[in-house]
Amino acid sequence: MGEDENQRLFFALWPDEGTRERLATLAVDDIIGRRVSGDNLHVTLAFLGSVDKQVRACAEHVASQVKAQSFTLQLDEVGYWRKPRILWVGASQLPLPLVQLLSSLDDGLSTCGLKPERREYRAHVTLARKVHKPIAHRSINPILWPIDSFVLVESRTLPAGASYQVLRTWFLGDN
Ligand code: ATP
Ligand code: MG
Repeated sequence: MGEDENQRLFFALWPDEGTRERLATLAVDDIIGRRVSGDNLHVTLAFLGSVDKQVRACAEHVASQVKAQSFTLQLDEVGYWRKPRILWVGASQLPLPLVQLLSSLDDGLSTCGLKPERREYRAHVTLARKVHKPIAHRSINPILWPIDSFVLVESRTLPAGASYQVLRTWFLGDN
């Protein structure tokens, strides 16, 4: 990467092996679309977009200042969004530490010159893309995901699709 090249970055929750396995093998009807590969499964916390190294440094500083406790995310519903044509598994409730984590990131990132997302936050893992047949929004037997950290990820678009690389990890407080 040249010095002056921007990176496409986002903050995310990255699954442990057990959670990844449960997500990768979650059976949801017959998915007519492209299932996201196990390595790419994540929950986006905040999307930074293409940023230069000053903004990246600012974002990393913001992340290091976050004070939120570890928590368990209950992925308890599946659904379909028509516009992006994705099938997702999500959390119907946002645990308080997650709300605190999100607001620390959003508040901090605004001081880095980044604009906050205007849409209401929905904690979700995209399971499949290019899904042309909607599935009914419904509850599932919850997947319990223990979360003790969050990560900064670089997204690269390759001919085969998006590839993500975890750049850095920050740990949350012990309960
Ligand atoms: P591709 O765009 O190549 O199809 P992708 O959407 O997985 O793949 P990115 O666009 O780099 O890759 O997005 C990385 C993550 O950030 C994904 O979880 C995506 O849903 C999320 N994301 C992308 N754009 C936004 C945005 N404007 N607001 C919020 N989240 C976003
Ligand atoms: Mg995208």
